[in-house]
Amino acid sequence: RAKSTAFIGLGRMGSEMAFNFFSKTFAESPDTRFVVCDALPTSAIAFRQNFGAQFPGAHIDIVLTPKEAVHASQTVLTMLPSSPQVKTVYSEANGVISALESLSAAELARSLFIDSTTLDVGIARSVAAEVISAGAQMVDAPVSGGVTGAKAGTLAFLVGGTEGAFVLSQPILTHMGNHIIHCGPSGAGLGAKICNNLVLGVQQIVVGEAMLLGQKLGLDPRILAGVINSSTGGCWASSVNNPVPYSLADKSPPCERNYEGGFATALMLKDMLLATDIAASTDSPLPLGKSAQNFYAETLRHRPDLAQKDFSSVYERLEQMRRE
Ligand code: NAD
Repeated sequence: RAKSTAFIGLGRMGSEMAFNFFSKTFAESPDTRFVVCDALPTSAIAFRQNFGAQFPGAHIDIVLTPKEAVHASQTVLTMLPSSPQVKTVYSEANGVISALESLSAAELARSLFIDSTTLDVGIARSVAAEVISAGAQMVDAPVSGGVTGAKAGTLAFLVGGTEGAFVLSQPILTHMGNHIIHCGPSGAGLGAKICNNLVLGVQQIVVGEAMLLGQKLGLDPRILAGVINSSTGGCWASSVNNPVPYSLADKSPPCERNYEGGFATALMLKDMLLATDIAASTDSPLPLGKSAQNFYAETLRHRPDLAQKDFSSVYERLEQMRRE
């Protein structure tokens, strides 16, 4: 196989990550061949056109199955919606694992898989175990930093895997992020990601509650946000992603763009479900996490139009409840 690298899943995050990864790899080794794959072939075509326009000398192949991507590449990154898609891409017919069966021992030893999807820890561990038992290496490397961080190449990667696999993945991940943290063995990156999003999911709701209550008490939202952000209640959900338009003097959060862009409410609900599932299976109490999960679910039942909007739009549901 010629030196080649593949990216599977060119959605909101994946297309930006692949762009940074490929452009920096191309600058280092212009003879590298790139391979892309997406369930929506139009996404792969759009990516190739966009990348090719900026790097006319780059060679990008579009393939239709993960199996073809593995046959063509030593390094394969995946960025998919969640557990079912990861199972499809890795474990089903024409998937990654079926492709590994036909590689030589030398090819397997050079093969590295990096999955950046946020998915169920147990499924991620079992997929990684299958890849590793076939003779290749794999890490889970979910990200924090959103579409903005993906575009800027400033993502945080939370990596789970052996020390050896972490060392192999590090130079690749630095093309897309600036914080690469080895969290522990297989699944540990996902565990860290799910715990972080549990905190974030709860905080975004309670910041909305406080901002709404404060306004009822006659407070100017700018003054209230300023107080919270310089006091013990300060957090990212208030100081960067505050849900009340123009409450932050020096920032322009998604609420000022009708909650466009950012991290979709549907994806936050998925992450809250991942947290409550893993909590149930490890007998960990999650009273606030469970309430937050129910509130995101209820929000989308009443306001399905918020599913693809930034999750700080749960504030709109709180406002709606006040009027009801
Ligand atoms: P997305 O839905 O925009 O992209 C997913 C892509 O995967 C799509 O292009 C889809 O066509 C493709 N896909 C689905 N099934 C496939 C298959 N079987 N084979 C090949 N391609 C397939 O999602 P996203 O916003 O890019 O998020 C991806 C992951 O990153 C999710 O797990 C999400 O939780 C996580 N994440 C997202 C953000 C964010 O701000 N969007 C931030 C951090 C983490």
